[in-house]
Amino acid sequence: MKVYYSPDYVVDIGNHVFPTVKFAHTAERLISDGVINPVDLADPGAIERDALLVVHDNAWVKKIFDGTMTLQDETSLEMRWSPSLAMAHRKCAAGTVKAAREALETGLGLHIGGGSHHAFAGHGEGFCVFNDLALALETLRREGAIERGAVVDLDVHQGNGTAALLVGREDFSTFSMHDPALYPFDGTGTTAASTVDITMPAGTGDTEYHKLLRERLPAFLDDAGPSLVLYQAGVDVHEDDRLGRFELSAHGVLERDRFVAETVLKRGIALVVTLGGGYGSDPAETGALHAQTIAAAIQAKR
Ligand SMILES: [Zn+2]
Repeated sequence: MKVYYSPDYVVDIGNHVFPTVKFAHTAERLISDGVINPVDLADPGAIERDALLVVHDNAWVKKIFDGTMTLQDETSLEMRWSPSLAMAHRKCAAGTVKAAREALETGLGLHIGGGSHHAFAGHGEGFCVFNDLALALETLRREGAIERGAVVDLDVHQGNGTAALLVGREDFSTFSMHDPALYPFDGTGTTAASTVDITMPAGTGDTEYHKLLRERLPAFLDDAGPSLVLYQAGVDVHEDDRLGRFELSAHGVLERDRFVAETVLKRGIALVVTLGGGYGSDPAETGALHAQTIAAAIQAKR
């Protein structure tokens, strides 16, 4: 088993609501729970410029590689540029592409990172630099490894960057369940609609969430007919999240992840798990939620 991860994902971005140390906590938790072995962790290495141009504008890629982001870029991204930030996101983009290749070989690809669904072709937003989801799909399609693909995005925020990058595509479909009153504040899809956007209000709990997911996801997969699904498994749907307002319990999040993995895998579709958002006040707790996502996917594959 290969689980893509790099210690370089932990970047000092100052006193920030996004604790990057959660990635290390996720990896440590999976090891201490005996779900994976330390040797399973594979550093994806940093993606090169040209490989990003499949979905990103040259000007944006250049800004990240050369450290020439403007103040406006940094405001939109909500992070300051640094060499270590650039390296983290180059590796993160590579991690999802490599996990997708792994998924096509084995049925399941795992990434302790990724899910940068707010990244657009020419700019980043909301902590997302490169859109690893659209990138992995488009890279593999151009290689002829897949004909149809889909993104299942259950982060509490709408996957606006992914939607914008893949809109109008007949070969790719996007599914997003989110709170439309949160960032990016256009969650009804007025500016960047997913193929399927499902909105739920603040306070949504396990029961209502699961009912909608079970009603909508199977039909989406049957319509989209993908051979590869990229799952953005944001845990900011959890009741203690500081950026989300849903009230899913930890068990409710686990049940969500189990349902997605089982529903995708039993159709014979290759599955890639990426982490997405998670902003609890205790990064170890956030890491534990992300770890149970990975564990649920491994369990569902068995
Ligand atoms: Zn989010």
